[in-house]
Amino acid sequence: MNLLDIFLELLIVVIAVVSLVANLLVFVCFTCSAQVRAQVPGIFIMNLSFCNILIAVLNMPSTLLGVVKHQKPFGDHFCYTVSFMDTFLTTNTMLSMAALSIDRWIAVVFPLTYSSKMRLKNAALMVSYAWLHSLVFSLIALLLSWVDYSPAYASCTVHLGDDAESRGHFMVFTAVFHACTFALSLFILCVAYLKVLQVARFHLQCTEMVLGYCQDVPYSHTTFPNIVGHRSRQDLEMGAEYLLLSVIHGLLNGECTPDIRLLGCSVLAPRCQDNKIMKPCRSSCEMVKKSCIHAFEAIQMAWPYFLDCDRFFVGNEEGCYDPLSELRDKQEVAFANISDGGHFTVIQFTYHTNSQMRSILKKTAAKCQHISKTYSIGRSLEGKDLLAIEFSSNPGQHDLLEPEIKLIGNMHGNEVLGRQLLIYLTQYLCSEYLLGNERIQTLINTTRIHILPSMNPDGYDIAAAEVADRNDPENIYQEGHEYNGWTSGRGNAQNLDLNRNFPDLTSIFYNRRRFRHFRSDHIPIPDSYWLNKVIAPETYAVMKWIRSYPFVISASLHGGELVISYPFDFSRHPHDERMYSPTPDEQIFRQLARTYADAHATMSNNDTERCGASFANKGGITNGAQWYSFAGGMSDFNYLHSNCYEITVELGCDKFPSEVELYPEWLRNKEALLSFMEFVHRGIKGIVKDEHGNGIKGATISVRGIRHDITTAEDGDYWRLLNPGVHIVTAAASGYSKATKRINLPRNIQVGRVDFVLKKVPREPSLDYFNIPELDNYERFDPFNQFEQHSQRELGENGEERTEKPWWWAYFSQLGISAPTWLLRNY
Ligand SMILES: [Zn+2]
Repeated sequence: MNLLDIFLELLIVVIAVVSLVANLLVFVCFTCSAQVRAQVPGIFIMNLSFCNILIAVLNMPSTLLGVVKHQKPFGDHFCYTVSFMDTFLTTNTMLSMAALSIDRWIAVVFPLTYSSKMRLKNAALMVSYAWLHSLVFSLIALLLSWVDYSPAYASCTVHLGDDAESRGHFMVFTAVFHACTFALSLFILCVAYLKVLQVARFHLQCTEMVLGYCQDVPYSHTTFPNIVGHRSRQDLEMGAEYLLLSVIHGLLNGECTPDIRLLGCSVLAPRCQDNKIMKPCRSSCEMVKKSCIHAFEAIQMAWPYFLDCDRFFVGNEEGCYDPLSELRDKQEVAFANISDGGHFTVIQFTYHTNSQMRSILKKTAAKCQHISKTYSIGRSLEGKDLLAIEFSSNPGQHDLLEPEIKLIGNMHGNEVLGRQLLIYLTQYLCSEYLLGNERIQTLINTTRIHILPSMNPDGYDIAAAEVADRNDPENIYQEGHEYNGWTSGRGNAQNLDLNRNFPDLTSIFYNRRRFRHFRSDHIPIPDSYWLNKVIAPETYAVMKWIRSYPFVISASLHGGELVISYPFDFSRHPHDERMYSPTPDEQIFRQLARTYADAHATMSNNDTERCGASFANKGGITNGAQWYSFAGGMSDFNYLHSNCYEITVELGCDKFPSEVELYPEWLRNKEALLSFMEFVHRGIKGIVKDEHGNGIKGATISVRGIRHDITTAEDGDYWRLLNPGVHIVTAAASGYSKATKRINLPRNIQVGRVDFVLKKVPREPSLDYFNIPELDNYERFDPFNQFEQHSQRELGENGEERTEKPWWWAYFSQLGISAPTWLLRNY
């Protein structure tokens, strides 16, 4: 063994160990640091390291073995394999290196679009190509011999002492092959890269910012061409992107401005400093997108492509700047003056369009996402979402024994105060909860509150358009009854009065009450309703809604009078239109109505100016039929078809009050709304269980002296509103024995807990208290699938069916610019 051999062996060992340690270190860095992993070109480095490790582990030991043994270590076939790996791995590392160098080159040439060019998908594609290319290359080398190259020659045959000539050829081949493999990378990195860098630096010149809609960005210089390829200022100003920025304030009804515009400017007119482009932060983009995407959804506009946070924005680690920093500083100063935390919501006491309402509800739910959620109960005739918002400690689910309530506004499209009050209420509930208001926190933690600010958004549009006309100076002299907004927009888009559109169960109640075992609760909808009546989609949606949740109380907010009216609304004598027609729960309804009226600033006052009728001597409450009788109302339907007790709140004489009245009206009604919601925690509640402790669904709870039962919900829980006093309460369910309890509900106790355990008994047909066929009728709801068509329309919620362009399309289509189809959703 000569000195040269020993030196060679040592060298091989050292190189193998160093290569192994170094490349393993790269792997460790990748596993430990998310920041390193986030770099897309890292995938090339990983591939490179992986190949290096394979070389160190597979090829180097066989080279060492060959040198030590002075012959092919395990014969020809072993060397074929090693030779194959040699070529494969070398080619693969070479291609990885090339990819890396090209990647840096792209980064220099296209500094702004760089991240859009090199995405993870592209990197993965390049690596797969490297593998395929290397595989083909090494397979050819394995199968063919050329220029004295033999597949048996490989790093395992470095010795070849006895065959000097072969070794010579092999050495030349290996040297040329390895040298060539890295030539491309070498060239790009050392020559092209530097040249391009110089050229790029030379050409990038900062120019003064002159764009009208970007004057308030926190910098004064920009550069062309910009990220989306505009070569000059004129080019940019003619583009659809800039046009969008100029109209976005109006399109989104003032939502999200100026944030969204500044963000757009940071892309279209990027910041330029010291002849270098500075990129905006991805985090700023993501924040704006989160708070603005609802506004875009509301007008069915897609998120603009040039605001794609992944493509055009960079992370903090890459040295970004925040285009909204100045704006935020200003806001913080403003906020510091009015509030301590970020929980404060500035409620705007103005009227809100349907899309603004939608956006406020979505925003509120996002801000209070741990206690709030929006959901749609269906669509109006013109396809507008009937958007509801719920507040509860567990939004989206019913908690055992937690009562549920609903508040509905704008059932008559031209009665708009309730709609606004409910929008303010949602903002108030959210911000007060966050600010730690104990009363609101208790309310929300113990109650599931559903709010539907507008049941009739189509009617609202009609009414609002007429009011806008009325306020138009041109029409000022035409003031008269046709312009006072009293009739237009009351009905839905079919001109159906929704409060006459529900099934008339009250007549059924009056016809049956003489029979001994009639049920005055959960009366099924008669087939004649489905066959003979034109049913509004809004009515249908609310009926489904009423049946889907165990609501206990409800308020429907109207306008035109100042009074609370409670069921029945339909007179017990068909020809007497003003006849006192109480329900079996008259006492409870009076309490419920009085709770609102008494807590309202003026409703129960004697001196309050009345709109027509006088209710002051009754404390501002009235039985509906005694005021005026009508059939097909929502409150009667609630009472006779479900467990829900609904009152009708008439908020004031003016159905469409002027905007300055909105804040005073909120102050007059705020306490009333809160007291009303708290009323749900009166009476008794509990669970009806079987002997095994399982809740019984649909069991009835009867109170002696009140001929109206309520039933248990899904888990056997029930809520029975009761006034204080002694009550005999009976729980019963089909197939079980009855259980009766005598309870004393003291004045000072809010809600009493009364549970029942029912024993299973064989059914006695003669004592069939439960009218089974009726129950079946009750369950099947819509036997003729009147609304199959309509529910199909609901399915196409994402606009798949939408073939016509949204209203704002006209802004962009008439300008001779290329149409921005990227603004259309699902295009
Ligand atoms: Zn009304």
